[in-house]
Amino acid sequence: MRKAAIIGAGIGGIATAVRLAVKGYGVTVLEANPTFGGKMQEFWLGKYRFDAGPSLFTLPHLVDELFTLAGRTPSDYFRYSRLDPITHYFWPDGSHVKAWADADKFAGEAERQLGVPGQAVREALQKSARLYRGTAGTFLQKSLHRLDTYLSPDVLKALGCLSDLGLTTTMHQENTRQFSDSRFVQLLDRFATYNGSDPYQAPGTLNIIPHLEHNIGAFYPGGGMYSIAASLVKLAEELGVAFKYNEPVKQILTSGKRITGVETSHATYKADVVVSNMDVVPTYRRLLPHQKAPEQTLQQPRSSSALIFYWGIKKEFEQLHVHNIFFSQDYKAEFEHIFKYKTVSPDPTVYLNITSKADPQDAPAGGENWFVMVNVPHNQGQDWQQLTTDTRQAVLQKLSKMLGTNIESLIEQEQVLDPLLIESRTSSFGGALYGSSSNNRMAAFLRHPNFSSKLKGLYFCGGSVHPGGGIPLCLLSAKIVGELVPAVAPSPAKPHQ
Ligand code: FAD
Repeated sequence: MRKAAIIGAGIGGIATAVRLAVKGYGVTVLEANPTFGGKMQEFWLGKYRFDAGPSLFTLPHLVDELFTLAGRTPSDYFRYSRLDPITHYFWPDGSHVKAWADADKFAGEAERQLGVPGQAVREALQKSARLYRGTAGTFLQKSLHRLDTYLSPDVLKALGCLSDLGLTTTMHQENTRQFSDSRFVQLLDRFATYNGSDPYQAPGTLNIIPHLEHNIGAFYPGGGMYSIAASLVKLAEELGVAFKYNEPVKQILTSGKRITGVETSHATYKADVVVSNMDVVPTYRRLLPHQKAPEQTLQQPRSSSALIFYWGIKKEFEQLHVHNIFFSQDYKAEFEHIFKYKTVSPDPTVYLNITSKADPQDAPAGGENWFVMVNVPHNQGQDWQQLTTDTRQAVLQKLSKMLGTNIESLIEQEQVLDPLLIESRTSSFGGALYGSSSNNRMAAFLRHPNFSSKLKGLYFCGGSVHPGGGIPLCLLSAKIVGELVPAVAPSPAKPHQ
């Protein structure tokens, strides 16, 4: 049996394991941590349950697809429901908007609350859909580093929407072109943070992101985000995948120009195929120290990271939903703090996720589990202790003011996650959430390919390589690897005609 070794049980590694097992490989996943999930973890603080990392779930069909591929019924393993409203947005001037799942209802709400023309909202969402349909086939679903991608009919679709792509303008410029209300522009600009980028630098192409959330939908997996990883691990194990925990890979073994396996702290695993789900930077620096590294790729600017306060709150807030955003006064200054000054804005936009709104058992009666997140730069040696103290104060002041209640007095459980912890727990370079940022228009082409052109048998999946970070893109990276890895048994030769 041909063997595959996968380094890391993040969502990309698990999905790749499923795909390669279906393809007929004997798959072993080596994971440094005591459990699977990587950035996707869960934990309890007393009676409060928290998803530690990702909280927003889009494109659920990419998860369903893995069960179907293995001949299973997805709902036997994993269930989710569409969120409505998707997000509740609050601005410092007291205005607020509920982003309803229905486009017309959302447009009506934006018109009523902000005075934004509803028709313009509908058109922006339609444009986002056109951009997505035109580009996803080429830029997200295939390797950008293979000639056959450029010979596919999907390229014609991408060329067809070239003028809409916003390659020469920033996301912010595109959004200000369409809307004069700075609050609605801020709402649209925020989608840049979905891959850790800056809307004042990232190309207008990133305006495809609202399509995922608004037109396709934002979903909540029953049992929380961790159930995505847990259900896929269950599937993988049924398919015979072996998961080895507490087993960090120390080296990728090579012979000439091909890989032969991996060496962990415990053993050597021979393999025909090695897939690294570890961040690509430490994969080269630590596991392949004698290979020439693709420096230009590895030195691309990182995406943002996060500072998260997990608070068990002994009160319920009727005006809040699963996803809530409390915007800053000056969005441009906030991104300058992150990407130019490499620090945290004193007035950050605050993202508040409360899963107990969807799963009441995630908090005790009368309480809520608050996941309070601020975008911050990736770790470059900042004083995170000081930044955490200052940001906690700023967040408490802001939320207390905007919700009209002293929040600090309601906190009965607390834990903090900073970029240093994200880096040390997952080997994510600098604790960046999404690998490299998309702050320039060549970023998509400068991400590491899903395969090595130097070492035969070596592949890459996960958020630090093509097509990028976030759960859906990690799942797509696994799909691309699944297609690139050779079939186990060559199909029988066609009879000579
Ligand atoms: P990772 O999760 O990075 O896991 C890599 C795994 O490899 C880890 O388990 C690590 O221990 C293991 N590993 C590393 N080195 C070795 C080694 N040498 N040997 C063995 N194992 C090794 N995405 C969304 O879609 N929606 C969100 O709302 C969202 N919010 C986020 C919020 C936070 C706080 C964070 C941290 C991330 C968020 N993301 C979100 C991003 C998303 O979580 C990631 O893009 C995705 O989970 C990364 O998966 P991955 O496959 O790249 O692997």
